[in-house]
Amino acid sequence: MLTEYEAEVQREMQICNACRYCEGYCAVFPAMTRRQGFTKADIHYLANLCHNCGACYHACQYALPHEFAVNVPRALARVRRETYSTYAWPPTLGSLYQRNGLTLALASSAGLALFLILALLLGGSFNLASPAGNFYAIFPHRLLIALFGAVFGFSIFALAIGVARFWRDLAPGASTAQAVVETTQHVLALTYLDGGQGDGCNEADDRFTLVRRRFHHFTFYGFLLCFSATIIAMGDHYILDQRAPHALSSWPVILGSLGGIGLLIGTFGLLWLNLRRDPVAGDPQQRPMDRGFIVLLLLTSVTGLALLAWRESNAMALLLAVHLGVVMALFATLPYGKFAHGIYRTAALLKWAIEKRHKEVLR
Ligand code: SF4
Ligand code: SF4
Repeated sequence: MLTEYEAEVQREMQICNACRYCEGYCAVFPAMTRRQGFTKADIHYLANLCHNCGACYHACQYALPHEFAVNVPRALARVRRETYSTYAWPPTLGSLYQRNGLTLALASSAGLALFLILALLLGGSFNLASPAGNFYAIFPHRLLIALFGAVFGFSIFALAIGVARFWRDLAPGASTAQAVVETTQHVLALTYLDGGQGDGCNEADDRFTLVRRRFHHFTFYGFLLCFSATIIAMGDHYILDQRAPHALSSWPVILGSLGGIGLLIGTFGLLWLNLRRDPVAGDPQQRPMDRGFIVLLLLTSVTGLALLAWRESNAMALLLAVHLGVVMALFATLPYGKFAHGIYRTAALLKWAIEKRHKEVLR
């Protein structure tokens, strides 16, 4: 049984399948043309292939005021929101975050930061004259590993359950090396954010712009650099016995700084775009979730850079507690926030890369 939003996608895809004007814009339309009907799984698959670039809405001759009232980006965005809650594990957390993403992101960051500050105060280790830059004199390394390991482990587990269910419903068939390589290229380049013609997305109006793709790249690669810095710092600690504080010329600091600056530029830009984007081609109800994730990433970069800048000052303990609180909130909400969209989209892109290598039309 289809939901109201799934039924709307089914209706619009039947119109698009007869029209086919937008075939060159993205993977959604060629995947649609391979089908004569649209099951629930097909609808979620197509929804997650869409990057919400808006190009097909601005090109559509059947958009309002035409009686067909076609608005593919909005219809697919609404179903994507259902994907995130349908497949989220546990489901109640997914629905809660979608309705109140921004509030929950801010509240959990503040709550966790306060908890860490309180722990410092109660433990008597809120030493304002703390050893310069030595984070582990404030929070022992093992304690941080235990806390973050538990939260991150839970998030990865919850995400894996959701994506495994999604993948099972998509029933993609056997993957091939070429399909994996092609998908990786599309993910790394964010290919379909070029609007299919290389001109980019529609943001506030009919004009095309590549800024959303650029800001996504800053955010994506900024996040990867920060993550790499953390992994290298752990390797230094456990394998090379090189303890924090790391020198400014060390890889953890260089990569972390570059990643933090990338995240700052990317998330600031994405938030700015989100605030001015034409609401007609999106799903306004998804905004709390979108903004919650962007704000958490933005806070992660701001607090991380502030910690680096003032790590040898008396403010270090406080800055460290705030930064760790934000990062923990980010990790805890990964399976329910906008981070999940990257994983579901990658799965949908891989299915497309697999199925387009087969000739048959699906019924
Ligand atoms: S979005 Fe509009 S123009 Fe594009 S294929 Fe569908 S009906 Fe045709
Ligand atoms: S909004 Fe962009 S990515 Fe989504 S279906 Fe339309 S053209 Fe494709």
